[in-house]
Amino acid sequence: QPVYLKDYQPPAFRVTHVELKFDLVPAATRVTAVLHLERHPDGAPGQPLVLDGERLSLKRIAIDGQELGESEYRVDDASLTIPDAPDRLRLETEVEIDPASNTALEGLYLSNGMFCTQCEAQGFRRITFYPDRPDVMATFSTTVIGDSASLPVLLSNGNPVERGELPYGRHFVTWEDPHPKPSYLFALVAGKLEKVEDRFTTMSGREVTLQLWVEPANLEKTDHAMRSLKAAMEWDETTYGREYDLDLFMIVAVDDFNMGAMENKGLNIFNSAAVLTHPQTATDAAFQRVEGVVAHEYFHNWSGNRVTCRDWFQLSLKEGFTVFRDQSFSADMNSAPVKRIEDVSFLRTAQFAEDAGPTAHPVQPDHYIEISNFYTLTIYEKGAEIVRMLRNLLGWETFRKGSDLYFERFDGQAVTIEDFAGCMAEVSGLDLDQFMRWYSQAGTPEIDAHGEYDYARAEYHLTLRQRTPATPGQPDKLPLHIPVRVGLVGTKSGEDLTLTLDGEALGKEGVLHLREEEQTFVFTDVAEAPVPSLLRGFSAPVKLRFPYGREDLAFLLTHDSDGFNRWDAGQRLAMLALDDLIAAHRNGVEKVMDARVVEAFRGLLNEPADDKAVLAEMLTLPSEAYIAEQQPVVDVDAIHAAREFVRQSLATVLRDDFMALYRANRSEAPYAPSAEQIASRRLKNVALAYLMSIEDEEAIELARQQFEADHNMTDVRAALTLLVHSSRSAVADPLLRAFGKKWAHDPLVMDQWFSLQVTRPQADALDRVKYLMEHPAFSLKNPNRVRALIGAFAGQNRVNFHRLDGEGYRLLADVVIALNTLNPEIAARIITPLTRWQRYDETRQSLMKAELERIRAEELSPNVYEVVEKALAE
Ligand code: ZN
Repeated sequence: QPVYLKDYQPPAFRVTHVELKFDLVPAATRVTAVLHLERHPDGAPGQPLVLDGERLSLKRIAIDGQELGESEYRVDDASLTIPDAPDRLRLETEVEIDPASNTALEGLYLSNGMFCTQCEAQGFRRITFYPDRPDVMATFSTTVIGDSASLPVLLSNGNPVERGELPYGRHFVTWEDPHPKPSYLFALVAGKLEKVEDRFTTMSGREVTLQLWVEPANLEKTDHAMRSLKAAMEWDETTYGREYDLDLFMIVAVDDFNMGAMENKGLNIFNSAAVLTHPQTATDAAFQRVEGVVAHEYFHNWSGNRVTCRDWFQLSLKEGFTVFRDQSFSADMNSAPVKRIEDVSFLRTAQFAEDAGPTAHPVQPDHYIEISNFYTLTIYEKGAEIVRMLRNLLGWETFRKGSDLYFERFDGQAVTIEDFAGCMAEVSGLDLDQFMRWYSQAGTPEIDAHGEYDYARAEYHLTLRQRTPATPGQPDKLPLHIPVRVGLVGTKSGEDLTLTLDGEALGKEGVLHLREEEQTFVFTDVAEAPVPSLLRGFSAPVKLRFPYGREDLAFLLTHDSDGFNRWDAGQRLAMLALDDLIAAHRNGVEKVMDARVVEAFRGLLNEPADDKAVLAEMLTLPSEAYIAEQQPVVDVDAIHAAREFVRQSLATVLRDDFMALYRANRSEAPYAPSAEQIASRRLKNVALAYLMSIEDEEAIELARQQFEADHNMTDVRAALTLLVHSSRSAVADPLLRAFGKKWAHDPLVMDQWFSLQVTRPQADALDRVKYLMEHPAFSLKNPNRVRALIGAFAGQNRVNFHRLDGEGYRLLADVVIALNTLNPEIAARIITPLTRWQRYDETRQSLMKAELERIRAEELSPNVYEVVEKALAE
């Protein structure tokens, strides 16, 4: 029963104001709602009033104070219908709900004894009867009543306006949110929480109180999130001219949460993993994630809340734009080139895989069964790349004008992706019609490029041919408008040549607008033979092939002026070597290490590094997941063997260089999540990883010392992971046990303890997964635990998940079946590796399909049903 974009109708009724009252009791919470409704001017006349509602037990219903008789309304398992509703009415309902048994973590639920909500996308209908769609925006007034002893803190959106004591040891707080909002931005939190508080003065002088609410034990883990919040508020003012619009901004950390965080108006709710940090418990990556997610949710206050989505097909309107904004913020706070490398790596492995699989969908989908399944890498990451292309096409200043126009014109409205792009077209005068295909066409475009240097004419001819492969439901694709940023690097000078195209001087680099299926660009006055540097900065989310020789890549690796492409040249060079080794492994031929890769690495290790963060990236080989993406048929064992061979060969030949790099980057300075420190730690631990790949005795001792020194979690975790992933269990096991004991009380550290064990390449990994699933710290009901143990195993331990006896697949399918009833949203996400069966050999294909069929035989949630049907569709 899919929903289609083309069927959009304005709502029949709108809500001008809502008064909610919650009487919180774990298994029997009462919700009273007073909705001030009136017919929508654009709605078709005479339609009945239909409100969404699921798992609600209706206790009372009245219109304008008059109780309704049985014949005046109908309730089914998804809605409440009032056939003869007046044009204007005050509808009062009272329902009972059961937060205590809500393991789906959608709507109102309990997490560690604390009440909290997750309403996006359609959780509000599990709280009360309501037109639960984003184009219905109302002001909310919310009274929360709870037991004073167990629920001392009662929070909701907006500002607290009244509080008081009630009989039987209960109390209440009333909150008012003056900004009209859709129901998905509603939030409520109640529990034993404590806060840290800070202030921020906005650019127009508004004093804002900032509060971060956590369980008392976590108070010492809040500094970084608070610092990040203030930085994000300031950045949005200076970069986008966007100011906060309430007197209070709250963040709450909860342990049970399906996603990273949620941008509820004035009351952001966070997965504790995306907000809590401490040098002893969180890695550098976690610190950076917190900074990014705090900013992301804060930025939604404008890109999402003030201007929201008309319907859920427009999800990328807020998510793509907001991801682009948080990526830019993180780039400004840290190493910008490394941020770009990380974002592109993620896109090219995970999003490209999604685009190539059975659940591929456009950034603006045209239908869905379960919207929760569409919080995807395509909507988020590819959506952000589209906004980035717009920024680059328009230039920052014009883009900013378009953004200003968008926020001004649509403030307080629920709009579409076309409305956003329309503002960009209007301020720039650009014709974006063809560009809009980026939103409607699924699949990753592929560009085949080739170039020729005409020495006699001093011309360089660059031909680009584009093609987007078919995706489910979209067999034929039209050409896209693809901005390809290029430079020509002179082979003699080693410098960017000045570009002249069609008589126009472009400077040292230019953007080619590929619009046709095939186009040839002729550069004139090219004085020396160049190596082209293509798609600089990853100017479009495409796969670009060019027949580079190893010499060319080694040349670009040292001479390309574009940092991103320098890194990419290294990755391409490593890929050529890896391809040979994968073939050698499959053919049972002796593996030989490519000397050019060794020399490239030697060069990197011996050049003084002007940017340590980038150097660490350059020294990192493509991941197994990325390598797999490049293969026609994925051979997990050959990929693993080839990559290990490269790591070990490099470590053997360059042992002393890696050792020197390790020693040069040790530091006793107190921990700070600064760009410099993070870069040094990364470099040091990359070096240690190479040395550990050959189980160098001195390296093992250094890893042990690094663990024992216990300086910060980044170093402790890196050392422990390397030891646990080695064959030296005599060294690793006692440390692993000590770590597990020391941190048994801290679930976020235990998640790391789970992950690092189940990602070890040794053959006992699957047994460890089973064993750890029985560990007291593990629970299938907690999404973080599931991701740390099951997600890490199935997603990162490729050799063991894809075992030829099918045990890895069986284990994952068992978990999916269990989660299908407990938490359908997580079930439909964790299943992803099984849906990629087309990419493997026949034996694995049939094993994977058999598990998908076993899942299909269950009584399925819409979430899992939609994914499994797509995965098994021919
Ligand atoms: Zn978001």
